[in-house]
Amino acid sequence: MAKRIIRTYNDEILRKKCKKVDKITPRIQMILDDMAETMKEEDGVGLAAPQVGILRNIVVIDVGEGIIELINPIITEQSKETEIDVEGCLSVPQKYGEVERPSKVKVKALNREGKEFELEGEGLLARAICHELDHLNGVLFIDKAVRFIKPGEKENE
Ligand code: ZN
Repeated sequence: MAKRIIRTYNDEILRKKCKKVDKITPRIQMILDDMAETMKEEDGVGLAAPQVGILRNIVVIDVGEGIIELINPIITEQSKETEIDVEGCLSVPQKYGEVERPSKVKVKALNREGKEFELEGEGLLARAICHELDHLNGVLFIDKAVRFIKPGEKENE
């Protein structure tokens, strides 16, 4: 496994749309491993492939319950109820803002063996899924933030 460099803010790769993974190869599995390691080292709760310069529909998430790997994820259901909470992003260092997200989402994806599965997320997990899937469409949380948090205002989690 190897840690990869995180692309930040002005890198135009973050604004591009990702392509579907057609075939799960050892290279794709290596990307998953590298992304998980990079996320862990950077202390993130999620990472999308474009953040490490790869324009493929691949996401890793860890909200404290183990690593979730999503290949070609699609949101199949989302609650009407929403929550507004603070988000940050490894690609947008030192910036935090409040973003409105559905309280619950269901996502369909492939695992590293190419098997389709469904995952339901609530609260932080739902937020992380939405945030990471936005990355696959070139969308950053700063595009959606309803309010930015001033330095020092963010509580320590
Ligand atoms: Zn992000």
